[in-house]
Amino acid sequence: MLELTTPVQYVKGIGPKLAEILATKGIATVGDLLNYLPFRYEDRLNPRGIAELHAGEMATVIGEVRNSGLFRTRKMPIFQLTVGQGRSKLRCLWFHGAYLQDKFKPGQLIALYGKVEQDQRSGELQIVQPQFEMLGDAAGDAADDKAAASLEVGRIVPIYESAGQGRVTARWFRRIIRTALDDLTPELAETIPAAVRDRLALLSPREALWKVHWPEAGESFEDLQSARTPAHIRLIFEELFFTELGLELKRRQQKAQTGIAFRLDDRVRQAIKKILPFHPTAAQKRVLKEIADDMQKPHPMRRLLQGDVGSGKTIIGFQAAIIAIENGYQVALMAPTEILAQQHYFSARRILENAGYRIVLLTGSLEADRKREIRRHIAQGNAQLVIGTHALLEEKVEFAKPGLVIVDEQHRFGVLQRLKLMKKSGDGSEGRGQAAASAGSAASTADKNPAEPDVLVMTATPIPRTLALTLYGDLDLSVLDELPPGRTPIVTRRITDARSPEVWDFVRKHAVAGHQAYVVYPIIAEGEETELKAAIKMYRELSGKVFADLKVGLLHGRLDSELKDQVMRRFQKGELQILVATTVIEVGVDVPNATVMVIEHAERFGLAQLHQLRGRIGRGAAKSYCILMTGGKVTEEGERRLDAMVRTNDGFQIAELDLELRGPGEFFGTRQAGMPSFRVANLIRDRQLLELAKREAAAVMAGPNAEVTQVEISRALVALRTRWQHTYGLVEVG
Ligand code: ADP
Ligand code: MG
Repeated sequence: MLELTTPVQYVKGIGPKLAEILATKGIATVGDLLNYLPFRYEDRLNPRGIAELHAGEMATVIGEVRNSGLFRTRKMPIFQLTVGQGRSKLRCLWFHGAYLQDKFKPGQLIALYGKVEQDQRSGELQIVQPQFEMLGDAAGDAADDKAAASLEVGRIVPIYESAGQGRVTARWFRRIIRTALDDLTPELAETIPAAVRDRLALLSPREALWKVHWPEAGESFEDLQSARTPAHIRLIFEELFFTELGLELKRRQQKAQTGIAFRLDDRVRQAIKKILPFHPTAAQKRVLKEIADDMQKPHPMRRLLQGDVGSGKTIIGFQAAIIAIENGYQVALMAPTEILAQQHYFSARRILENAGYRIVLLTGSLEADRKREIRRHIAQGNAQLVIGTHALLEEKVEFAKPGLVIVDEQHRFGVLQRLKLMKKSGDGSEGRGQAAASAGSAASTADKNPAEPDVLVMTATPIPRTLALTLYGDLDLSVLDELPPGRTPIVTRRITDARSPEVWDFVRKHAVAGHQAYVVYPIIAEGEETELKAAIKMYRELSGKVFADLKVGLLHGRLDSELKDQVMRRFQKGELQILVATTVIEVGVDVPNATVMVIEHAERFGLAQLHQLRGRIGRGAAKSYCILMTGGKVTEEGERRLDAMVRTNDGFQIAELDLELRGPGEFFGTRQAGMPSFRVANLIRDRQLLELAKREAAAVMAGPNAEVTQVEISRALVALRTRWQHTYGLVEVG
């Protein structure tokens, strides 16, 4: 009998070679295999009669091979196959189909799936490049044939993605999954508490697994294709439920730790107010209060502040910093790029230094001596606000009294890096509950300051709330949903680069009127991709010819950091009117006088990136313009990105579309960042189930009570651990 945790090699018919191929698909256990769901289904119970097909529909046709052959046109070889049902015939074509020669024998039964089209010349119906599957005796092992054949026709048939360059076919999966189901232990434990299962009318795990692979004849075909059958819902909910349960557990563990209870008395309040260069928006006030409330609690804060570009997150970070500093603690503020760290350093000095706070900048590019000196300041507690880049994480920085860590523009950090960061400034005490706290590093400073510092993470990636709560599930969420007053919406236009003279005229007009402009290129130097205009070359052209009478600067990632710094500062001061740049300016850069953003080869940029870039303008009261120039062919997806940019300034809408276009893995960079990837759930399609799962998981963890027993909770936690261990590779969660 197979258990879900049994290694997949123990399924009959899977040897070491096949197990290796399956491993590439992330299939290691029987449970993994059974959760390898069909990506679509074919209705071979009621396959379509050829005579009743009509153009434009997707159809499954089962027929008999009549004849086939390759014929050559001037352009390419085309393989043609005719299948028949009684007197009706249907033609199928494959372009460049030479590889299909000798594959089909007359009389053979075959299932085809594809879009029915009408041939322009003959007017006959045909299917071009259908997916197909031989039925019946093709596999060769005669004894199994009958049983196997009954898996392929006369029913709704699951279609799986093949693996191992197609060697492990849909058909193979169908048989092997069937075998695994047949041999699966009848006592598959229910790990979801009964109250939850009843409330949502969930199928038992065993029934769900059977039905998702082998739907009953009466199952709604539409529900199957959209993964909305009861069987799908059970499996998807289960996956989401355990994810949320794990996150809930982590949150609870964090909350239970000792943190710093900062005091927020009138003196501190005054200090916070005093630095404000403007009236905070209502949203800023609300968010600051949420943060301040957290900081006063004796448990470590773990809060995500989400606010679209330009919503004014920086000042909130500074205010939180003051609370910590006024309580005698040190603050670390981390930025993803040096430019941004620099900028924070300058605004911190502008805003905070008058109040007497001691601020240092620590970046990777400083000279070793200088770094050592700064580190000493930090270790001795002289530096109160430490601003830096990843260098703060990577190098040995010891804080005398760390109180608060602020991470700006978190989307640039992987989730894992965030963990590392908390460890470091958390003076060694691990506090994440999932990895063993390293006793060695904890010993050094732990006795001086045993409390975990607070952490505030700021991001401009506008993620829908539930998604945020899952992806950053161990963080509490604050949302800055209001822009500072006086902003006029940015006007965004698309233009082909054939019209660049007009664009340059436009830029000039604004520069002459006293404003500034960015011109952004996707690459730095020529030769990287020959047809693209590179920043350096265009800088020469723009500074030397087009804008010879204006002051033009160049900024890209390969400049040494002193020069970068210098250029950025001159632009900030208004000494440069036009800044030619790469995406180094993408995040955070704040020059309110800049009102024009020209992006060349805009089709090359991702949607989130375009939105971030555009976020560099529209930061002051003057009307701002974003000009998306395209050169060359734009893909369909590119079109959708550009359309979205022209249509809306709303970060949430942009994020939704981006999520849709790229899929959650890419969108969040979760693959590198070690977020669990989902096997059956899809965070976008299943958003409602996610919400449900989150609610139910929280309720379960709040037990035991009238609904959930202690035994059920324990059982769920054990299941959680097993699941996370082998799926996500986490060592310990409970
Ligand atoms: P982001 O959220 O993108 O980090 P910033 O904190 O850089 O945004 O703020 C964007 C700009 O808006 C800055 O120039 C900042 O000084 C200004 N700003 C922030 N809050 C306010 C406010 N309440 N009133 C006026 N200007 C503000
Ligand atoms: Mg910012």
